[in-house]
Amino acid sequence: MPIINRSQFPPGGWKYAQPETGWKIENPGFTFEETAIEIFKHRAANPTIFSSNGLDTCRNDLDAYTEARAHKEGWFSVSLFSPAQSVLPKLKAPPSIQAQSEEPKSVRPVGVVARFAEVVKGDLEGAKIVASWLGNGMNPVTRRLAQDRANICINCPQNEKKERKLTGGLAKALKWAAELKSHASLHVKGEDLLGTCKNCGCHLPTKVWVQARHIAVGEPPKEPFPDFCWVKNELDRRLSPPVLSNQKELEPFAWTQTAVKEPGPIHQQNKWQGGIFTIPKDSRDLLFNSGLVQRSDGLWLAARRHSSPRSNTVVMFKLDDMMNIEHGKEVTFKKVNQNEHFEDPRVITIPGTDNVLLTACNYFLHSLQSGSHAHQGIFLLDKDWVCQAAFHPAYGANGISIEHNTGNEKNWCLFYHGQVPHLVYSCSSKQKHQVVQLNPSTFQPEQSFITDGIVWPYGEARGGTPPVRIGDEYWSFFHSSQPWQTTKRRYFMGAYAFKAKAPFEITKYTKIPIAAGSQLDPLVPNWSPLVVFPCGAVFDGDDWLVTYGINDTACGWNRIPHEELVSATTEV
Ligand code: SF4
Repeated sequence: MPIINRSQFPPGGWKYAQPETGWKIENPGFTFEETAIEIFKHRAANPTIFSSNGLDTCRNDLDAYTEARAHKEGWFSVSLFSPAQSVLPKLKAPPSIQAQSEEPKSVRPVGVVARFAEVVKGDLEGAKIVASWLGNGMNPVTRRLAQDRANICINCPQNEKKERKLTGGLAKALKWAAELKSHASLHVKGEDLLGTCKNCGCHLPTKVWVQARHIAVGEPPKEPFPDFCWVKNELDRRLSPPVLSNQKELEPFAWTQTAVKEPGPIHQQNKWQGGIFTIPKDSRDLLFNSGLVQRSDGLWLAARRHSSPRSNTVVMFKLDDMMNIEHGKEVTFKKVNQNEHFEDPRVITIPGTDNVLLTACNYFLHSLQSGSHAHQGIFLLDKDWVCQAAFHPAYGANGISIEHNTGNEKNWCLFYHGQVPHLVYSCSSKQKHQVVQLNPSTFQPEQSFITDGIVWPYGEARGGTPPVRIGDEYWSFFHSSQPWQTTKRRYFMGAYAFKAKAPFEITKYTKIPIAAGSQLDPLVPNWSPLVVFPCGAVFDGDDWLVTYGINDTACGWNRIPHEELVSATTEV
């Protein structure tokens, strides 16, 4: 009974258990291929079970494991299986399945290679680095950073371009890395000009994709790296104190808004990669306060578009690997009123699908001066960014429609806790940390959990980016604001974590802002407040890609190493 349609999700999603280690993967949001890669990574980190056949073996084992589950759990009419067997007979489980009460056993063929650690033992530094990289998830750096690194190596005299004969463990490690590299299309321009670094012996086409924390596992190079070398500069940075470079400068905003040196442009306030998006637009439009979502076709930026005279909607922009805009499409909302507006989008996918839920501030404008209460709506978008359904959770001052609001509601942050939607309603010490469990079909509140909020002398802490789970915690970036000039305000960005189980208590947060709105960023004179407004955050296993609005004028991003973020937080 071969599984022929790996693009389908079996009941409960793709699952696998590694009998030798007891390790399990049960992420209902993962596709077949993502699950196979997770299996590959786990095996790469466990040399006794690593197979020389790499990913193919993992794919076949996942097929076999799923087939065993189908027998054991008695699935019917599952389109995973070939048409002739699309209605599965309720088979008696074979003895090997019956015998075990816990997990179906993998039928992975025997014939694995020798222990990975032994393979690379005594070999060149490159093998250790690749081993660490593979074993810890092989999350590559962004294409932009890999290209920046490659450009430096291409012009470096230490780059030995001639073909080097590779043998033993290094050859094997690179073969495995190449398999994953090609699977993920990890290639830079000028790759054929990259060879081996004479200083460290590393294979440069691979090394430019490796996170700095894995490079740090290597021994010091035989010769010191030159000053312009990216390896030297990135490792030096890792040795610097954990306090973020701007936190000392931003701390005085806790007690004064005037006698403080003006912060630099937000994306340069720390030593993180970052930039301001160049977005094609009508000259009178402003695009800002941007969320971020990862679908199977890549990253999409969700930007609020403010047009003149006052009108607000959301435009989705496809991003390439260099964080450039490829193309855009306006979200098609089903308006119930001509003067309906949509602002400050936060976007997440429904687990296991490419359908997107967009939370927006939604209101009617009666005139350029007056409007309805700000309302929070949740909008289900299909793959073409057309709204298929709208939900209006009645919580706080939010009503079952805009007209039913009894006050303003903004900045709700939606997330899935397992298969159940939840939202962070508030996170400040004043409003408390309120997490609301929603009905998965109606998105109406079912239960709320209220615990202590963030004590933050930079204005009231508010959401924020949709929380993302890492281990036993969820992480989110939040904003706050303080009076700046006349009626204008200056905004700040922080980050916090909370427990990934009810009642979702806060565990840690940045006591000092990690970014502040700046007059040195783009702004509209006499109109813009000084804003950093985080709405989107995607985590790749090592780094955060955070997107935010700048001064109600532009959209920016930063790539933030998670370990630096953790070191900037204080435990509660
Ligand atoms: S010394 Fe640094 S820049 Fe030069 S080839 Fe080696 S890694 Fe690249």
